[in-house]
Amino acid sequence: MKFNIAPGAVKQNPVNHTKIPTMSSEQQTDIVIIGAGLAGLSAASDISSKNTQLNITLVDKGRGLGGRLAGRRIKDATFDHGAQFMTTRDAKFAAQVQKWIDAGVAEKWYSSFPGQSNSHARYRGKPTMTGIAKHLAKGLNIKLSTTVTSVYAVNNGWVTELDGGGKIFSRGLIITSPVPQTLTLLASGNISLSLNNQERLQRIEYESCIAVMATLDQPSKISAPGALAISDGPIAWISDNQQKGVSQIPAITIHASGDYSAEHFNHDRMSIGQQLVNLALPYLGAAVTDFQVHGWRYSKPIAVDNNPCMLACESTDLPPLILAGDAFAGPRVEGAVLSGWAAAEAMLKRLPRNS
Ligand SMILES: Cc1cc2nc3c(=O)[nH]c(=O)nc-3n(C[C@H](O)[C@H](O)[C@H](O)COP(=O)(O)OP(=O)(O)OC[C@H]3O[C@@H](n4cnc5c(N)ncnc54)[C@H](O)[C@@H]3O)c2cc1C
Repeated sequence: MKFNIAPGAVKQNPVNHTKIPTMSSEQQTDIVIIGAGLAGLSAASDISSKNTQLNITLVDKGRGLGGRLAGRRIKDATFDHGAQFMTTRDAKFAAQVQKWIDAGVAEKWYSSFPGQSNSHARYRGKPTMTGIAKHLAKGLNIKLSTTVTSVYAVNNGWVTELDGGGKIFSRGLIITSPVPQTLTLLASGNISLSLNNQERLQRIEYESCIAVMATLDQPSKISAPGALAISDGPIAWISDNQQKGVSQIPAITIHASGDYSAEHFNHDRMSIGQQLVNLALPYLGAAVTDFQVHGWRYSKPIAVDNNPCMLACESTDLPPLILAGDAFAGPRVEGAVLSGWAAAEAMLKRLPRNS
Protein backbone atom coordinates (compact mmCIF):
# COMPACT_ATOMS: atom_id res chain seq x y z
CA MET A 1 0.00 0.00 0.00
CA LYS A 2 1.32 3.41 -0.90
CA PHE A 3 0.20 6.70 0.57
CA ASN A 4 -0.79 8.75 -2.44
CA ILE A 5 -1.83 12.33 -2.26
CA ALA A 6 -5.44 12.57 -3.25
CA PRO A 7 -6.14 14.90 -6.17
CA GLY A 8 -8.02 17.92 -4.92
CA ALA A 9 -6.46 17.71 -1.44
CA VAL A 10 -5.44 21.34 -1.89
CA LYS A 11 -8.49 23.56 -1.97
CA GLN A 12 -8.95 26.15 -4.63
CA ASN A 13 -10.42 28.87 -2.44
CA PRO A 14 -8.91 32.34 -2.72
CA VAL A 15 -6.27 33.65 -0.33
CA ASN A 16 -7.57 35.17 2.88
CA HIS A 17 -6.68 38.86 2.75
CA THR A 18 -7.73 39.65 6.28
CA LYS A 19 -5.56 41.92 8.38
CA ILE A 20 -2.81 40.61 10.67
CA PRO A 21 -4.39 39.66 13.98
CA THR A 22 -3.22 41.71 16.97
CA MET A 23 -0.44 39.74 18.59
CA SER A 24 2.11 40.25 21.32
CA SER A 25 5.73 40.60 20.21
CA GLU A 26 6.73 37.04 21.16
CA GLN A 27 4.08 35.77 18.74
CA GLN A 28 5.68 37.51 15.77
CA THR A 29 8.73 36.32 13.95
CA ASP A 30 10.31 36.67 10.52
CA ILE A 31 10.10 33.03 9.52
CA VAL A 32 8.17 30.08 10.90
CA ILE A 33 9.49 26.63 10.04
CA ILE A 34 7.16 23.71 10.63
CA GLY A 35 9.19 20.62 11.50
CA ALA A 36 12.43 20.25 13.45
CA GLY A 37 13.63 17.25 11.45
CA LEU A 38 16.78 17.53 9.38
CA ALA A 39 15.17 19.66 6.66
CA GLY A 40 13.73 22.22 9.08
CA LEU A 41 16.84 22.36 11.26
CA SER A 42 19.13 22.66 8.23
CA ALA A 43 17.01 25.46 6.78
CA ALA A 44 16.99 27.33 10.09
CA SER A 45 20.70 27.00 10.76
CA ASP A 46 21.56 28.00 7.19
CA ILE A 47 19.34 31.10 7.31
CA SER A 48 20.72 32.06 10.74
CA SER A 49 24.31 31.72 9.51
CA LYS A 50 23.61 33.99 6.52
CA ASN A 51 21.41 36.59 8.19
CA THR A 52 21.71 36.91 11.94
CA GLN A 53 19.03 39.65 12.01
CA LEU A 54 16.21 37.30 11.06
CA ASN A 55 14.13 35.73 13.81
CA ILE A 56 13.15 32.15 13.12
CA THR A 57 10.75 29.99 15.09
CA LEU A 58 10.66 26.24 14.53
CA VAL A 59 7.60 24.32 15.65
CA ASP A 60 7.46 20.52 15.97
CA LYS A 61 4.78 18.26 17.33
CA GLY A 62 7.36 15.72 18.52
CA ARG A 63 8.73 15.61 22.06
CA GLY A 64 12.26 15.33 20.72
CA LEU A 65 14.28 16.88 17.91
CA GLY A 66 15.10 15.20 14.62
CA GLY A 67 11.80 13.86 13.24
CA ARG A 68 12.58 10.59 11.50
CA LEU A 69 16.10 10.69 12.96
CA ALA A 70 14.64 9.13 16.05
CA GLY A 71 15.97 7.42 19.13
CA ARG A 72 14.32 5.65 22.04
CA ARG A 73 15.30 4.09 25.34
CA ILE A 74 13.92 0.93 26.96
CA LYS A 75 15.43 0.77 30.46
CA ASP A 76 19.23 0.63 29.88
CA ALA A 77 18.94 -0.01 26.15
CA THR A 78 19.20 2.73 23.51
CA PHE A 79 17.89 2.45 19.96
CA ASP A 80 18.11 4.29 16.67
CA HIS A 81 14.65 3.38 15.42
CA GLY A 82 14.26 5.75 12.45
CA ALA A 83 17.11 6.52 10.06
CA GLN A 84 20.01 4.14 10.64
CA PHE A 85 22.84 5.91 8.85
CA MET A 86 23.73 8.63 6.36
CA THR A 87 25.39 8.30 2.99
CA THR A 88 27.07 11.15 1.11
CA ARG A 89 26.68 11.66 -2.62
CA ASP A 90 26.78 15.46 -2.80
CA ALA A 91 30.13 17.18 -2.15
CA LYS A 92 28.60 19.94 -0.01
CA PHE A 93 26.79 17.39 2.14
CA ALA A 94 29.98 15.29 2.43
CA ALA A 95 31.74 18.42 3.74
CA GLN A 96 28.90 18.92 6.24
CA VAL A 97 29.23 15.33 7.48
CA GLN A 98 32.96 15.93 7.95
CA LYS A 99 32.09 18.98 10.09
CA TRP A 100 29.77 16.81 12.20
CA ILE A 101 32.58 14.25 12.58
CA ASP A 102 34.93 17.03 13.69
CA ALA A 103 32.29 18.23 16.18
CA GLY A 104 32.03 14.70 17.61
CA VAL A 105 28.39 14.14 16.63
CA ALA A 106 28.98 11.70 13.75
CA GLU A 107 31.40 8.93 12.77
CA LYS A 108 31.83 6.36 10.03
CA TRP A 109 29.92 3.20 10.89
CA TYR A 110 30.91 0.91 8.00
CA SER A 111 31.57 0.65 4.31
CA SER A 112 30.56 -2.91 3.57
CA PHE A 113 28.92 -6.01 4.96
CA PRO A 114 31.00 -9.19 5.40
CA GLY A 115 31.21 -10.98 2.05
CA GLN A 116 30.37 -7.83 0.05
CA SER A 117 32.81 -5.79 -1.98
CA ASN A 118 33.70 -2.46 -0.44
CA SER A 119 30.91 0.02 -0.92
CA HIS A 120 30.21 3.68 -0.03
CA ALA A 121 30.60 4.75 3.59
CA ARG A 122 27.68 4.78 6.01
CA TYR A 123 27.94 7.38 8.79
CA ARG A 124 26.08 7.28 12.05
CA GLY A 125 25.16 10.01 14.52
CA LYS A 126 26.86 10.08 17.94
CA PRO A 127 25.84 9.06 20.51
CA THR A 128 22.73 8.28 18.44
CA MET A 129 21.36 9.61 15.14
CA THR A 130 19.55 12.36 17.03
CA GLY A 131 22.96 13.71 18.12
CA ILE A 132 23.12 15.46 14.74
CA ALA A 133 19.74 17.10 15.22
CA LYS A 134 20.67 18.28 18.72
CA HIS A 135 23.89 19.74 17.36
CA LEU A 136 22.07 21.59 14.56
CA ALA A 137 19.48 22.89 17.01
CA LYS A 138 21.97 24.80 19.15
CA GLY A 139 20.99 28.46 19.39
CA LEU A 140 17.71 27.99 17.50
CA ASN A 141 14.30 28.94 18.85
CA ILE A 142 12.29 25.70 18.81
CA LYS A 143 8.85 24.91 20.21
CA LEU A 144 8.63 21.14 20.73
CA SER A 145 5.50 19.14 21.62
CA THR A 146 3.51 21.76 19.70
CA THR A 147 1.30 20.72 16.79
CA VAL A 148 0.51 23.20 14.05
CA THR A 149 -3.20 22.85 13.47
CA SER A 150 -3.60 25.33 10.62
CA VAL A 151 -1.76 27.89 8.51
CA TYR A 152 -3.35 30.74 6.60
CA ALA A 153 -2.20 33.75 4.62
CA VAL A 154 -2.93 37.31 5.66
CA ASN A 155 -2.12 40.35 3.54
CA ASN A 156 1.63 40.38 4.17
CA GLY A 157 2.48 37.14 5.89
CA TRP A 158 1.35 33.95 7.52
CA VAL A 159 -0.54 32.96 10.63
CA THR A 160 0.46 29.62 12.10
CA GLU A 161 -2.10 28.27 14.55
CA LEU A 162 -0.91 25.98 17.32
CA ASP A 163 -2.72 23.41 19.39
CA GLY A 164 -3.71 25.00 22.65
CA GLY A 165 -4.82 28.14 20.83
CA GLY A 166 -1.54 30.03 20.23
CA LYS A 167 -0.82 31.83 16.96
CA ILE A 168 2.43 33.02 15.41
CA PHE A 169 2.57 35.68 12.69
CA SER A 170 5.54 35.47 10.29
CA ARG A 171 6.55 37.09 7.01
CA GLY A 172 7.69 33.76 5.56
CA LEU A 173 6.72 30.12 6.10
CA ILE A 174 8.68 26.92 5.43
CA ILE A 175 6.83 23.61 5.84
CA THR A 176 8.90 20.42 6.11
CA SER A 177 6.35 17.85 7.27
CA PRO A 178 5.80 14.78 5.05
CA VAL A 179 3.79 15.97 2.04
CA PRO A 180 0.41 14.38 2.96
CA GLN A 181 0.58 16.17 6.34
CA THR A 182 1.61 19.39 4.60
CA LEU A 183 -1.41 19.12 2.31
CA THR A 184 -3.70 18.77 5.30
CA LEU A 185 -2.23 21.94 6.76
CA LEU A 186 -2.59 23.84 3.48
CA ALA A 187 -6.17 22.66 3.10
CA SER A 188 -6.94 23.81 6.63
CA GLY A 189 -6.11 27.37 5.63
CA ASN A 190 -7.65 27.20 2.15
CA ILE A 191 -4.23 27.73 0.57
CA SER A 192 -4.37 27.57 -3.22
CA LEU A 193 -1.26 26.33 -5.02
CA SER A 194 -0.69 26.56 -8.76
CA LEU A 195 -1.91 23.60 -10.81
CA ASN A 196 1.69 22.71 -11.65
CA ASN A 197 2.68 22.60 -7.97
CA GLN A 198 -0.41 20.56 -7.12
CA GLU A 199 0.49 18.03 -9.81
CA ARG A 200 4.06 17.83 -8.53
CA LEU A 201 2.80 17.11 -5.00
CA GLN A 202 0.32 14.53 -6.22
CA ARG A 203 3.14 12.50 -7.79
CA ILE A 204 4.94 12.08 -4.43
CA GLU A 205 4.41 8.71 -2.73
CA TYR A 206 5.62 7.27 0.57
CA GLU A 207 6.10 3.82 1.99
CA SER A 208 5.50 2.98 5.62
CA CYS A 209 7.73 1.07 8.02
CA ILE A 210 6.97 -0.86 11.19
CA ALA A 211 9.95 -0.71 13.54
CA VAL A 212 10.52 -3.06 16.47
CA MET A 213 12.97 -2.20 19.24
CA ALA A 214 13.96 -5.30 21.22
CA THR A 215 16.32 -5.96 24.12
CA LEU A 216 18.23 -9.26 24.19
CA ASP A 217 19.46 -11.51 27.00
CA GLN A 218 22.99 -11.59 25.50
CA PRO A 219 24.89 -10.06 22.56
CA SER A 220 23.47 -11.00 19.17
CA LYS A 221 25.36 -13.22 16.75
CA ILE A 222 24.97 -10.64 13.95
CA SER A 223 28.43 -10.18 12.44
CA ALA A 224 30.30 -6.88 12.52
CA PRO A 225 29.42 -4.12 11.72
CA GLY A 226 26.12 -5.09 13.35
CA ALA A 227 23.76 -4.61 10.43
CA LEU A 228 21.80 -7.02 8.27
CA ALA A 229 19.94 -5.99 5.11
CA ILE A 230 17.51 -8.72 4.03
CA SER A 231 16.20 -8.54 0.48
CA ASP A 232 13.17 -10.88 0.73
CA GLY A 233 10.38 -11.39 3.24
CA PRO A 234 8.76 -9.38 6.00
CA ILE A 235 12.03 -8.11 7.56
CA ALA A 236 14.12 -5.65 5.56
CA TRP A 237 16.72 -4.66 8.15
CA ILE A 238 18.11 -5.62 11.54
CA SER A 239 20.71 -3.54 13.33
CA ASP A 240 22.56 -4.33 16.50
CA ASN A 241 22.56 -1.10 18.51
CA GLN A 242 25.19 -2.47 20.90
CA GLN A 243 27.72 -3.23 18.15
CA LYS A 244 26.88 0.07 16.50
CA GLY A 245 27.93 1.83 19.69
CA VAL A 246 24.47 3.22 20.44
CA SER A 247 23.39 0.93 23.29
CA GLN A 248 25.20 -0.16 26.46
CA ILE A 249 23.29 -3.44 26.51
CA PRO A 250 22.24 -5.89 23.75
CA ALA A 251 19.45 -4.24 21.76
CA ILE A 252 18.32 -4.59 18.16
CA THR A 253 16.14 -2.58 15.79
CA ILE A 254 14.05 -4.49 13.24
CA HIS A 255 12.56 -2.69 10.24
CA ALA A 256 9.79 -4.48 8.40
CA SER A 257 9.72 -4.27 4.60
CA GLY A 258 7.54 -1.68 2.87
CA ASP A 259 5.07 -4.33 1.65
CA TYR A 260 4.74 -6.02 5.04
CA SER A 261 4.43 -2.67 6.83
CA ALA A 262 1.70 -1.47 4.50
CA GLU A 263 -0.26 -4.71 4.84
CA HIS A 264 -0.04 -4.75 8.64
CA PHE A 265 0.13 -1.05 9.47
CA ASN A 266 -3.31 -0.91 11.09
CA HIS A 267 -3.12 -4.30 12.79
CA ASP A 268 -2.51 -4.78 16.49
CA ARG A 269 1.03 -3.43 16.99
CA MET A 270 2.15 -5.83 19.72
CA SER A 271 1.09 -8.94 17.81
CA ILE A 272 2.81 -7.64 14.65
CA GLY A 273 5.88 -6.88 16.78
CA GLN A 274 5.82 -10.44 18.16
CA GLN A 275 5.60 -11.85 14.61
CA LEU A 276 8.62 -9.81 13.54
CA VAL A 277 10.55 -10.79 16.67
CA ASN A 278 9.84 -14.48 15.95
CA LEU A 279 11.04 -14.05 12.35
CA ALA A 280 14.20 -12.29 13.56
CA LEU A 281 15.17 -14.92 16.16
CA PRO A 282 17.20 -17.15 13.78
CA TYR A 283 19.50 -14.18 13.05
CA LEU A 284 20.01 -13.28 16.70
CA GLY A 285 21.31 -16.27 18.66
CA ALA A 286 19.81 -14.62 21.74
CA ALA A 287 16.41 -14.40 23.39
CA VAL A 288 14.29 -11.25 23.26
CA THR A 289 13.57 -9.98 26.79
CA ASP A 290 11.35 -7.00 25.95
CA PHE A 291 10.19 -5.08 22.89
CA GLN A 292 8.31 -1.99 21.72
CA VAL A 293 6.84 -1.19 18.31
CA HIS A 294 6.65 2.06 16.36
CA GLY A 295 4.84 2.66 13.08
CA TRP A 296 6.30 5.17 10.62
CA ARG A 297 3.38 5.96 8.34
CA TYR A 298 5.51 8.17 6.08
CA SER A 299 8.81 6.39 6.37
CA LYS A 300 10.51 7.16 3.07
CA PRO A 301 9.27 8.77 -0.13
CA ILE A 302 9.36 6.23 -2.97
CA ALA A 303 8.42 8.79 -5.64
CA VAL A 304 10.09 12.15 -5.11
CA ASP A 305 9.93 15.56 -6.75
CA ASN A 306 12.78 16.54 -9.09
CA ASN A 307 13.45 19.86 -7.41
CA PRO A 308 15.27 20.40 -4.09
CA CYS A 309 12.31 22.33 -2.64
CA MET A 310 9.03 23.82 -3.82
CA LEU A 311 8.38 27.52 -4.11
CA ALA A 312 4.73 26.99 -3.24
CA CYS A 313 3.81 30.67 -3.49
CA GLU A 314 4.91 30.70 -7.15
CA SER A 315 2.19 31.88 -9.57
CA THR A 316 -0.07 32.83 -6.65
CA ASP A 317 -0.54 35.98 -4.58
CA LEU A 318 0.60 34.15 -1.44
CA PRO A 319 3.35 35.51 0.83
CA PRO A 320 6.66 33.54 0.77
CA LEU A 321 5.89 29.84 1.23
CA ILE A 322 8.43 27.08 0.67
CA LEU A 323 7.86 23.33 1.00
CA ALA A 324 10.88 21.20 1.80
CA GLY A 325 11.91 17.79 3.10
CA ASP A 326 13.17 14.49 1.78
CA ALA A 327 10.32 14.25 -0.74
CA PHE A 328 12.14 16.92 -2.74
CA ALA A 329 15.93 16.44 -2.74
CA GLY A 330 16.00 12.66 -2.21
CA PRO A 331 14.52 10.07 0.13
CA ARG A 332 17.22 10.04 2.77
CA VAL A 333 18.99 12.10 5.40
CA GLU A 334 21.15 13.74 2.76
CA GLY A 335 18.09 14.74 0.74
CA ALA A 336 16.43 16.31 3.77
CA VAL A 337 19.52 18.44 4.47
CA LEU A 338 19.93 19.49 0.83
CA SER A 339 16.25 20.37 0.69
CA GLY A 340 16.53 22.43 3.88
CA TRP A 341 19.44 24.37 2.41
CA ALA A 342 17.54 24.95 -0.85
CA ALA A 343 14.53 26.19 1.15
CA ALA A 344 16.79 28.57 3.08
CA GLU A 345 18.17 30.03 -0.12
CA ALA A 346 14.72 30.36 -1.69
CA MET A 347 13.33 32.03 1.44
CA LEU A 348 16.21 34.51 1.72
CA LYS A 349 15.61 35.56 -1.91
CA ARG A 350 11.89 36.05 -1.46
CA LEU A 351 11.46 37.39 2.03
CA PRO A 352 10.43 41.04 1.74
CA ARG A 353 12.34 43.61 3.77
CA ASN A 354 10.79 44.33 7.14
CA SER A 355 8.67 47.45 6.93
C1 LIG B 1 12.41 3.63 9.59
C2 LIG B 1 13.23 4.60 8.77
C3 LIG B 1 14.50 4.25 8.34
C4 LIG B 1 15.25 5.15 7.61
N1 LIG B 1 16.53 4.82 7.26
C5 LIG B 1 17.31 5.73 6.65
C6 LIG B 1 18.70 5.48 6.44
O1 LIG B 1 19.24 4.47 6.89
N2 LIG B 1 19.42 6.42 5.78
C7 LIG B 1 18.86 7.58 5.34
O2 LIG B 1 19.58 8.41 4.75
N3 LIG B 1 17.56 7.86 5.55
C8 LIG B 1 16.78 6.97 6.19
N4 LIG B 1 15.48 7.26 6.46
C9 LIG B 1 14.89 8.49 5.92
C10 LIG B 1 15.28 9.72 6.74
O3 LIG B 1 15.01 9.50 8.09
C11 LIG B 1 14.48 10.90 6.22
O4 LIG B 1 14.74 11.04 4.84
C12 LIG B 1 14.80 12.24 6.89
O5 LIG B 1 15.04 12.10 8.26
C13 LIG B 1 13.63 13.18 6.62
O6 LIG B 1 13.84 14.43 7.25
P1 LIG B 1 12.76 15.58 7.05
O7 LIG B 1 13.24 16.73 7.84
O8 LIG B 1 12.50 15.77 5.60
O9 LIG B 1 11.40 15.01 7.66
P2 LIG B 1 11.05 14.60 9.16
O10 LIG B 1 12.25 14.08 9.85
O11 LIG B 1 9.86 13.71 9.06
O12 LIG B 1 10.66 15.98 9.84
C14 LIG B 1 9.37 16.54 9.72
C15 LIG B 1 8.94 17.03 11.08
O13 LIG B 1 7.69 17.70 10.95
C16 LIG B 1 6.99 17.50 12.14
N5 LIG B 1 5.58 17.76 11.89
C17 LIG B 1 4.75 17.16 11.00
N6 LIG B 1 3.52 17.69 11.04
C18 LIG B 1 3.57 18.67 12.00
C19 LIG B 1 2.60 19.58 12.53
N7 LIG B 1 1.34 19.62 12.06
N8 LIG B 1 2.98 20.42 13.52
C20 LIG B 1 4.24 20.41 14.00
N9 LIG B 1 5.20 19.56 13.53
C21 LIG B 1 4.87 18.70 12.53
C22 LIG B 1 7.28 16.04 12.52
O14 LIG B 1 7.08 15.83 13.91
C23 LIG B 1 8.73 15.92 12.10
O15 LIG B 1 9.62 16.10 13.19
C24 LIG B 1 14.71 6.40 7.24
C25 LIG B 1 13.43 6.76 7.70
C26 LIG B 1 12.71 5.88 8.48
C27 LIG B 1 11.37 6.30 9.00
